[in-house]
Amino acid sequence: MPNVIAIVRVVLLIGYLGVIAAAFVAPITPRVFWTMVMPAVPLGFVLAGFHAWRRTCPIATVGALGAKLHRSGTLPAGWRRRGLTIAFIALIATLTLRLVATNGDGVALGLFLASLALGALVVNAWGGGRSFCHHLCPVGVVERIYTDDAPSASSLGSNETSRCDRCTGCAPACADLDQERSFRRARDDDARRSVTYAFPGVVLAFYAYYALREGTWEAYFDGRWTLAPFGIERVTGPGFHFAPEVPAVLAATLTLVGFAAISHALFATIERALTTRWPDVALRRERMLAFASFTAFNLFYLFAGAPSLRLVPGVARALELVVPIVATLVLVHRLRRRDGVTDSTRPHATNHGARSVAGAVEAHGGASTVATSRAVPSGVAMRSLGSDASPVTKRRLPVWKEAG
Ligand code: SF4
Repeated sequence: MPNVIAIVRVVLLIGYLGVIAAAFVAPITPRVFWTMVMPAVPLGFVLAGFHAWRRTCPIATVGALGAKLHRSGTLPAGWRRRGLTIAFIALIATLTLRLVATNGDGVALGLFLASLALGALVVNAWGGGRSFCHHLCPVGVVERIYTDDAPSASSLGSNETSRCDRCTGCAPACADLDQERSFRRARDDDARRSVTYAFPGVVLAFYAYYALREGTWEAYFDGRWTLAPFGIERVTGPGFHFAPEVPAVLAATLTLVGFAAISHALFATIERALTTRWPDVALRRERMLAFASFTAFNLFYLFAGAPSLRLVPGVARALELVVPIVATLVLVHRLRRRDGVTDSTRPHATNHGARSVAGAVEAHGGASTVATSRAVPSGVAMRSLGSDASPVTKRRLPVWKEAG
């Protein structure tokens, strides 16, 4: 059987390089890329699964060349410690850049995509392994929010644990080696909580900004922005229709950050309010992460691709059906999870990749095996954050029966 992953990887790489080339010569490229290609990516993550995307992402493929140039060392400790937060800031910067430059300008888009690939190459050559994916990639942070702890409809990419030739320890609790364990670590991490709770606000802010700038939602839905050439007016022109004195670049940033802060406050408040209903701290956190991810996914597909999809009503109608179903199935799976049981999404730790890196994993944060569930006498056991091997229920009760 042909190596499907290898074929998809080559196709996506050629596609990525093709988009860069087309961006410089075909004015329609921004429209095709932003309203047809990009909207397919999150659904692709979720359907194909974390590892399939990690092994086929064209930016990661270019980055792998950088990893081969790596000699020694890792990124600075502070960067590695705050990698998720830094990647989230990179995401907000990327969205701001899109709103003021790359949305409708082919040259700006081509330069942006080329710099992303070049960035992956340089950062991986500096920090080794998949430093860029773990600590800087704006797409990577979205991928983690949507796929951590999510089931995969595909086994593609799950027969190997990492595509690194050798482990340089570029990331603690590496998700490429053990996504389950990495999720349990991330679940306990304040940065992970903040980023995930803020993300639905970022998604809404991005689309709302078109209306805030132009005074009408049609400014997004009619797709005029895909033809807006880059110019100083796009960057420093009127940022809000009600406050034209605010430069667009500042207005876009304030909108993204402001909505992110509101979203974070909202989910944090709900989490606190559920303390009595779900006293298990880890369980409550898992569920809130799942709800935030579910909210962001659905918000994204309320808007993504609409300027082109509205031209083909059949496809739009199909997506309206598929997206909520996929999102709900993932949510239900995540709400029913218990440590060590959702291993259908976890790669087998018996292959070449795992063997070559097992020692380094131990050195960078403990055992690579997933905690085994232990039965407790009754009800929902109390777990605290920070525990990799917390006791959990033998059989998780439906959500609505666990109250109190
Ligand atoms: S396997 Fe090692 S080098 Fe590769 S991404 Fe994971 S931590 Fe980095």
